[in-house]
Amino acid sequence: MSISSDLLEGQVALVTGSSSGIGESVARYLASSGAAVVINYHSEKDEAHKIVEDIKSNGGKAIAIGADVSKEDQVKAMFEQTLQTFGTLHILVNNAGLQKDSAFVDMSLDHWNMVIGINLTGQFLCAREAAKEFLRRGIEPNISKAAGKIICMSSVHQVIPWAGHVNYATSKGGIDMMMRSIAQELAPQKIRVNSIAPGAIKTPINKSAWDTPEAEADLLKLIPSGRVGEVDDIAKAAVWLASDESDYVNGITLFVDGGMTLYPGFRTGG
Ligand code: NAD
Repeated sequence: MSISSDLLEGQVALVTGSSSGIGESVARYLASSGAAVVINYHSEKDEAHKIVEDIKSNGGKAIAIGADVSKEDQVKAMFEQTLQTFGTLHILVNNAGLQKDSAFVDMSLDHWNMVIGINLTGQFLCAREAAKEFLRRGIEPNISKAAGKIICMSSVHQVIPWAGHVNYATSKGGIDMMMRSIAQELAPQKIRVNSIAPGAIKTPINKSAWDTPEAEADLLKLIPSGRVGEVDDIAKAAVWLASDESDYVNGITLFVDGGMTLYPGFRTGG
């Protein structure tokens, strides 16, 4: 599929945590496919407004809204502002996430709660508000075959256990079951809910894993395809899942990981 500038024409998309990394790229690709886009940010207000200006200067529509996705009142206010500005919502990309890593026995309750609160509860809060609007509005046949689409940013760590990152891996495992349960519940109302599980993608979240040649060589041992992923790899998958090109796809996780989940350690043994 080549990405066409009218694939998502007339649709409104909200991308959480889109002032950097994967979320930024997803937002830019959705905008260049014709969607009006909400750039949600937490602390990076200037970066978010710069992305909005870029999208507008390319003829797109965008606004920036600050909100902590783990806070119910802020999430509700963000959705209200989205609906006031653009009238409705068709696509939610639940992307915001972070890591607070430590050895398991040293992991504080604060860091456990923070990671679960943002990575998992944040996705629940945003998905719930999006689903309410999708159900209120229903299908607009000239816009999309679906009443709405939700894309959850998971990780290969929804299936690969990750020592030193128990809170993060748990949040991503939870996303898988949450996503499939919502998809099962809302499929009859023509709401599609899917996840993307990125492998190692070059972004600020994992800079230390790829920003020196030694670190990158180490990381490549885990990636059969032989390269670290780029944010565009994820953004293209997100456009497909958001569009009617994937109309019969519901409740799946699309692994975009260069084969990281192929257990590459078994190439030479096992
Ligand atoms: P990133 O740090 O660039 O992006 C994370 C974004 O989430 C940032 O913009 C940050 O401001 C935002 N955020 C953090 N806390 C927030 C909060 N409380 N409310 C709203 N926004 C908040 O890193 P990224 O790699 O682009 O990560 C995006 C998503 O992709 C995350 O869910 C991450 O777990 C997932 N992911 C990334 C990789 C990778 O290799 N980069 C791999 C698998 C999964």
